[in-house]
Amino acid sequence: MQENSFYRDYDVPQDLRFKTTDIIHMGGLQCSCQLNKKYISDILSEPNRITQASVELSFSIANQEILVQGKVTGQREIQCARCLKLVKQPFGEEFFETYSNKLEIIDIMFLVRQTLALTEDIRFLCKPDCRGICPMCGQDLNVASCNCQPVNLSPFAVLKGKFK
Ligand SMILES: [Zn+2]
Ligand SMILES: [Zn+2]
Repeated sequence: MQENSFYRDYDVPQDLRFKTTDIIHMGGLQCSCQLNKKYISDILSEPNRITQASVELSFSIANQEILVQGKVTGQREIQCARCLKLVKQPFGEEFFETYSNKLEIIDIMFLVRQTLALTEDIRFLCKPDCRGICPMCGQDLNVASCNCQPVNLSPFAVLKGKFK
C-alpha cells in the first residue's frame, strides 16, 4: 500500500479522538497504535478483562463522509462459565464506520470499546468438555473427582424415594 508522506509524522492521539480537520487536511490517514491499559481495562465485566490491545486504522474521505476501517487485536482473560478458571485468549475484531465530515471529533475509542464489549462471551468454556466444579465441595472436577453424591433433581427420583 502507498504511504502518504503528509501523515508520516502524525502523532496518533492516545485516546483515539481524532480531529476531523486533521484527517481532511491529510487526505485520509493510516495508522496504528498500542492502547493504554486505562482505556481497555474496564471494557469487560469482572473478572474478565482485556490485558493488551492495539488498533490499526484506515481513514478515507468520500464526499461528505469519512470512512473508517479498523482492526483491534490483543489478549484477554475470560472466565470459564463452568470451572471459573481465567483463560488467556488472543482476539481480533474488525470494525467499519462512517462519520460526517462536519463532526469536530471522530471518537474511535468509543467505537473500539463498543466493538470489544459486544464480543464478550459470558458462556465461554475453557474447553468444550469442561467438567466444572462440584457444587457441594468446590472441587475442580477437571483436576480430580470427589466423593460427593450427585444431586438428582429429577421429580421422578423424589417419587421413587416416597414409594419405596
Ligand atoms: Zn472450565
Ligand atoms: Zn464434591
